[in-house]
Amino acid sequence: MKCRTCGAKAAVNMRQHKLALCKQHFLDWVPIQTARFIKKYRMFGPEERVLVAVSGGKDSLSLWDILHRLGYQADGLYLGLGIDEGLGYSDESRRLTEQFARQHGLKLHIVDVQATYGYDIPTLSALTHRGQNRPCAVCGVVKRHEMNRIARDLGYDVLATGHNLDDEASVLFGNTLSWQAEFLLRQGPVLPAHDGLARKVKPLCRFYEKEMTAYALLRGIEYIYEECPFSAGSTTIYYKELLNRLENDRPGAKLAFYLKFLEARENGLFRSSLDSSQPMYNCPSCGQPTQYEGKCSFCRMIEKVQPA
Ligand code: SF4
Ligand SMILES: [Zn+2]
Ligand SMILES: [Zn+2]
Repeated sequence: MKCRTCGAKAAVNMRQHKLALCKQHFLDWVPIQTARFIKKYRMFGPEERVLVAVSGGKDSLSLWDILHRLGYQADGLYLGLGIDEGLGYSDESRRLTEQFARQHGLKLHIVDVQATYGYDIPTLSALTHRGQNRPCAVCGVVKRHEMNRIARDLGYDVLATGHNLDDEASVLFGNTLSWQAEFLLRQGPVLPAHDGLARKVKPLCRFYEKEMTAYALLRGIEYIYEECPFSAGSTTIYYKELLNRLENDRPGAKLAFYLKFLEARENGLFRSSLDSSQPMYNCPSCGQPTQYEGKCSFCRMIEKVQPA
């Protein structure tokens, strides 16, 4: 297999795009495509300040690397979740994130959840009895709240996350199975700024997971290979496996599923549910928007676990 651009031996063969590229041309192709997506979906401009949520995994570190190579003002935010499970998951992901920032001279903000709120994620989950052995529900609430808080307090225009096509297609698949119109309406490459919250963008949403793995490896980015120990057995992973089986038989099916959805959404397929969506309130404690009157779910959770 030869590189389409220079004819040298290809390092990456992307059946889904009918495109094979050598190492150099693949490493050029990824930022070019990313810049195209940023522009196409109007994610942000060169003058805007971007906060990249970095977990130490391949996607978020690659995103930070790509934005840096494209010349954007992109700083990192690492959230210390305190997930260990005998594997030192959080410690290792923090070490790799700090190492990446140091090597590239990038600014990294670190928020340690336990140091800030008194409890790590597994403890918060146990204390609130949410999610039994899987603290993902609590973790999701905390991550969303903290990312919003830091972006707002430090004056960032945009919050960028490293979700790739496999992540997006699997969430879409789940939302479609249960026809969650409100979620479907909100899913997309850009969530507009709202009530003091930064715009949220997913610049890697059209890259297959394996393309991001190839990018990280060929760029020599050291990232944490292990998934979070609590992700094992999740429905997201199950849906990813199902979609991979489909993709294997029909290369490009995953991308088509996602892009056709974006097109349908753009054409107003879910618009009526927006009209009837609930009004937003502001949490009296932290100021972030919430669907219900009164404190947001994060503030209610923290209040519940505080000693009387
Ligand atoms: S898998 Fe669950 S606990 Fe682990 S980082 Fe993701 S949301 Fe948090
Ligand atoms: Zn080439
Ligand atoms: Zn709140």
